[in-house]
Amino acid sequence: MASLYLHIPFCEHKCIYCDFYSVAPTETGGNYESLTGRFLSALRKEIDVRSADARFQVVYDTVFFGGGTPSLLSPSNIGEILETLNRNFSIRKNAEITLETNPGTVDLRKLSEFRQVGVNRISFGVQSFYEDDLRFLTRIHTSKEAVENVRNAYHAGFDNVSIDLIFSLPGQNIERWASNLRQAVALEPAHLSCYSLIVEPNTQLHRMVQAKQVSTLPAEEDANLYEFTMEYLSAQGFEQYEVSNFAKFGYRSRHNSNYWNHSNYLGFGPSAHSFWSHDEAVGCSSRWWNIANVVEYAHRLGHGHMPVQGEEQLSGQQLMEEEIFLGLRSDGIDVAGFRKKYAWDFLVHHSSTIKGLLEDNLASLSGQRLRLTSKGYLLCDEICRSFLT
Ligand code: SF4
Repeated sequence: MASLYLHIPFCEHKCIYCDFYSVAPTETGGNYESLTGRFLSALRKEIDVRSADARFQVVYDTVFFGGGTPSLLSPSNIGEILETLNRNFSIRKNAEITLETNPGTVDLRKLSEFRQVGVNRISFGVQSFYEDDLRFLTRIHTSKEAVENVRNAYHAGFDNVSIDLIFSLPGQNIERWASNLRQAVALEPAHLSCYSLIVEPNTQLHRMVQAKQVSTLPAEEDANLYEFTMEYLSAQGFEQYEVSNFAKFGYRSRHNSNYWNHSNYLGFGPSAHSFWSHDEAVGCSSRWWNIANVVEYAHRLGHGHMPVQGEEQLSGQQLMEEEIFLGLRSDGIDVAGFRKKYAWDFLVHHSSTIKGLLEDNLASLSGQRLRLTSKGYLLCDEICRSFLT
């Protein structure tokens, strides 16, 4: 399984908590239209050049438009990018094609057109159903627009709809969070992603916290909200298959699962990352990432250069550690597969750590798969560290 990721670097407005790379039209000195055009033609060029490398001619199972706000682009732009991908790569017929969508940028017609050009999964950044939360997060949409557009997505022919929510907002209690979860579940999404608010460095939110204009929730309250999330969504028939991700049967995100399974992926666009295992060109696995600047990205491709800003080769040890970390965060570690791949017996080398996790009901070992329990997910970072020391 391999995946393609497209980073669309535009947002109508920069949300206070966000550290993903994007630019708002107001930051382009009145050149938004022409910058979008230059970006799209650079993206086509990047796809052409990468696909000419025989290493990357494998079958791709997923395409993911992320960002940024991909739904700011027109359906015909998205359709043209998909055509370029299809011309250059072999993409499975039933590939999962996801579009991250800001509910403030679409309506029924636009969603129908996204469906017509081949998008088959929509991921809505709803974040909260409370207007004051949305204002605090400086989202551009209202709760009403979010509800309307999730319903519009079904009318447009999408059956695979995901909703993103953020918990641990300042002052949030269990009742408010429970109400958000209830409203999300009432919209019958196939998938939910629930993230705790993280104060990332270099964000407006970080500056507000530093200036004591905003206080974050204590860790204990954050843990209570997370525990409630896992219990509530499990009772509603959602399977938790990663720390923050919950799906109805058959609706796990294939794209994100590929990341967590350490599958190969190619990323296009400013700031996009790529990972290729057992890369014959460099004799090992490698990761590289593009420059996080759309003007420079377009300039480099326009002058015949690739927009790669950095790369690293991963040693067997690094790969193994990443696989432990990714597995524990998601669907567990296939112990037999691990032994075969790395000639290293995970169960033997970590026997006392694993014994402790099993005794404390933080993990389960079923067949050959070691998987964290809900209680284990609560302590996921700590548990990962205990395997890496
Ligand atoms: S819309 Fe999404 S990507 Fe854009 S600034 Fe807000 S959170 Fe970040």
